[in-house]
Amino acid sequence: MAKPGPIPRSRLRLAAVYLGVIGVILYGAGLGMFGLLMRANWSALEREVETLAGTLHDSLKPLLPEEARPSPQLAAVLPGLCLVSDPCPSPPSLISRHAVSVTDPERFYLRLLDPRGVLIAHSPGSPSRSPRAKAERLDPAWSVEEGPGGDRFLQYSIHLHRSHTPNHSGANALELDWGYLEIGRSLRGLDAERERLWWATQTIVVLALLVAGLASWWLSGLAMRPLLAAYRQQEQFTADAAHELRAPLANLLAVVEAHRAQPPADAVAREQMLAAVHGQGLRLSRLIADLLLLARLDGHEAAAAVQPCSLAEIAHDLQEETSEAAATAQVQLRLLGGEVDLHVLGVESELYRLVSNLLLNAIQYTPPGGEVLLRLSREGTYGWLQVQDSGIGITPADQERIFDRFFRSDPGRSRRQGGTGLGLSIVAAIVRRHHGQISVDSKVGSGSVFSVKLPLAG
Ligand code: ADP
Repeated sequence: MAKPGPIPRSRLRLAAVYLGVIGVILYGAGLGMFGLLMRANWSALEREVETLAGTLHDSLKPLLPEEARPSPQLAAVLPGLCLVSDPCPSPPSLISRHAVSVTDPERFYLRLLDPRGVLIAHSPGSPSRSPRAKAERLDPAWSVEEGPGGDRFLQYSIHLHRSHTPNHSGANALELDWGYLEIGRSLRGLDAERERLWWATQTIVVLALLVAGLASWWLSGLAMRPLLAAYRQQEQFTADAAHELRAPLANLLAVVEAHRAQPPADAVAREQMLAAVHGQGLRLSRLIADLLLLARLDGHEAAAAVQPCSLAEIAHDLQEETSEAAATAQVQLRLLGGEVDLHVLGVESELYRLVSNLLLNAIQYTPPGGEVLLRLSREGTYGWLQVQDSGIGITPADQERIFDRFFRSDPGRSRRQGGTGLGLSIVAAIVRRHHGQISVDSKVGSGSVFSVKLPLAG
């Protein structure tokens, strides 16, 4: 089976990373939510038990017998509880109106202990006390106890006081330590609720993960789109470059093969052959130089030798340098605004290349008798450089593509004139590197204007 290409592989990896991150967040949020809900339930339970214990304590306070021991008086106060000295009957009866639910052995248990922590009375079915419970008498104290059937109980114990009113009149009632009250609340409901919530959280997280998986796949596709476009562009560029390199190389090899098969008879034929080889060699060398320049311009290495460069100076030099080409093409070349002081912070050799590419194109695509204008002007903190010709013009459709690598409106003409099809893409890359903008305005048959806007130094 064929392995997926680098792009699907990267998309898969990106989607997996997205899913991993979203999964961790979702799972963390689910666990947090679960913990919060359980905490809230637990607090509600604690409040309930605390209130119940307080109410019971207040109800029992005036009724408790003097001594904290199993006695008929105590049995009379708490008829629903079993005294440790007696066999424990069932079912339990009511203790008081507050204790209706407290005597429900399924949900609650009650225990009375003397001040030393020795059990005096308990509700029927209450779990037996652990030996360490005695040693760890704390007031008030929370603990979790296990019932006979394995049920868990939340236990709360508080000090129990007895109200005592002295006989002589006018004396205030006294609060005397009597013992302890332990009240246990079954955790069966809470445990069932925890189980239910746990599974609900797991199910929701798994479902959310499934949706997140689909969303991750879609998002990774979205994120990969520009990369995919760049990758395709790169692929196209490599194919185009190979194609462009192959043609002159094939021509060159054909000439050499012909020479080997049938060496030229005279010096003129030999000279022609050498000229052909030289021409193809030059074409190849130009192409490779342009490709290397483009690669350098695309790279992220620090711009070489950035310095303030005078656009006027560059324009004057290039007007002079291209005047011969203009004369050969019978095109008039003029410079306007050559006196304007425009200094750009950049790489001089690149700025030379920018202007020269535009000027040579203008000369190349302007028929004899035409005119090429190189115009410099200033607008605030920007300098304008325009190359206008009265040449063949560019169709609106081609205007969209002329800055693409290897694009030519007329490939035959471009090649004949030694063009590599990379001139304008090099211009665009240089403009980009100098934080400028380039635009073209053209009309077929009337000519074109290439305008470059560059930020000025200082
Ligand atoms: P080339 O090496 O073909 O000149 P460029 O990248 O410099 O490559 O230009 C791309 C294409 O843009 C050219 O093939 C030509 O069709 C068009 N072009 C560029 N400059 C002009 C111009 N001044 N007038 C008309 N067409 C132009």
